[in-house]
Amino acid sequence: MGADAGFDMVPRLSKGVVDRHNWKTFIELLQEKYKDDPKVENKPNYILFKAGEYPMLPFEGHKFLRFSSKVTGSNAEVTGVTSYIKTVKRVAMVYFGSRIHYWSELADNYGVYDWKEVNESLRSYEQRDEPEIPTTIAAFISGNDPIKELGIPIFETKDIPGKGRGLIARFNISPGTRILCEKPIFTSGPMPIPQLQVTLAAKLKALPKAAQRQFLSLHNNFPGKYPFSYTFKTNALPCGPDSPVGGVYPTICLINHSCIPNSHNNWNSDAKHETIYATRPIKAGEEITISYDRGGPANERRATLKSSFGFECDCRICSLAPSELQASDARRVQIQSLDDAIGSSVRMQSKPKDVLGDCHLLLQTLKDEYDGYAGIHNARVYYDAFQVSIAHGDQARASIFADRAYKARAVCEGEDSPEAKRMHGFAQKPASHRNFQGCSSKWKTTRGMIPKGLDTEAFEKWLFRV
Ligand SMILES: [Zn+2]
Repeated sequence: MGADAGFDMVPRLSKGVVDRHNWKTFIELLQEKYKDDPKVENKPNYILFKAGEYPMLPFEGHKFLRFSSKVTGSNAEVTGVTSYIKTVKRVAMVYFGSRIHYWSELADNYGVYDWKEVNESLRSYEQRDEPEIPTTIAAFISGNDPIKELGIPIFETKDIPGKGRGLIARFNISPGTRILCEKPIFTSGPMPIPQLQVTLAAKLKALPKAAQRQFLSLHNNFPGKYPFSYTFKTNALPCGPDSPVGGVYPTICLINHSCIPNSHNNWNSDAKHETIYATRPIKAGEEITISYDRGGPANERRATLKSSFGFECDCRICSLAPSELQASDARRVQIQSLDDAIGSSVRMQSKPKDVLGDCHLLLQTLKDEYDGYAGIHNARVYYDAFQVSIAHGDQARASIFADRAYKARAVCEGEDSPEAKRMHGFAQKPASHRNFQGCSSKWKTTRGMIPKGLDTEAFEKWLFRV
């Protein structure tokens, strides 16, 4: 008996160059990390962790399905297997992002593969079926912007023609990977430009020289009389979605804009730092981008970007051929109008089924516009769908919507983001929301009433009351 925990690779890795490269780097990094740990042993074909039930990592990634152990009982405690699982999972997420499916029976969630498949995969570790590839770790240990705790430089800073400096991915990055997190050099609330100049001068003076240089090296779009104020205005990111307080960061402020970004920035109010997560697959050599604006059609976006940030956007969407740009604009206008319609509390009260239908349509439109990687937009829509459901007492659907909101948030902000944790809580206990049955109880269900055995299409129809 006892409870198991660990992570599965879903889908499993292929024998292709990219998966092989990423797995090799992952294994090398763990070997380096644990080289002085007597409980972690290199066998000819795998790494053996002599803790708990001795979980293993094969040198051939395509064989790998699961890394797990019993995590309860004295054996697990004495050997510290839980901490190995957590660390290996964290490193794995850097390389494989959302392919890493973490589960823990203690939290009532389970792996994807059945034990028969897993045991077969474990047996296959013994025999190597590919010639060994020479290894080099040095190339990945140097670099100027490592994820500090792991020592992995996942990107490099480069001059980008027409854009100043920017960040370039050093290798393929999966959605859900934390690219970096930083504490602000300093933060400031809103105030008139001359007053801001005086305030920032005082803040700067109190900082160490290195931090002063970091701030002064940031780009200023509006050079002139108030350099500190305008450098701050050019670079500050809000500390929270609607926060009037902004922060400036040594590296994050170098990330350029795209109207179809591959990453998401978020202020983690618990940790008091800004995070950047990959929200779509990023190829080695590709620029890491975030969005500076609030959407809308191209002419509106471009005007805002020009006046607030002083540049002409030439991202992939803004550079589309006129007919394609027109189609994108139509979707962006529809996204805005659906968003407004969903936000109406009157409709939520009187026409909840229509609101749910709008959520469904909005998710489809987002999927088309963002080629399946709408990230944070999806998280918001799923939370809207949750709110409509729970306001009319439907705990079954509400828990599914909250779980989807949680998963989308976790990809964009990490599992430790306060908002992701809040969504996870609602998925477990939808009735804990303050507006439970706040409109009516006409859709009343319990979590136990989620239908089982439906195919995807039928399940989605049930979910959105189509
Ligand atoms: Zn653009």
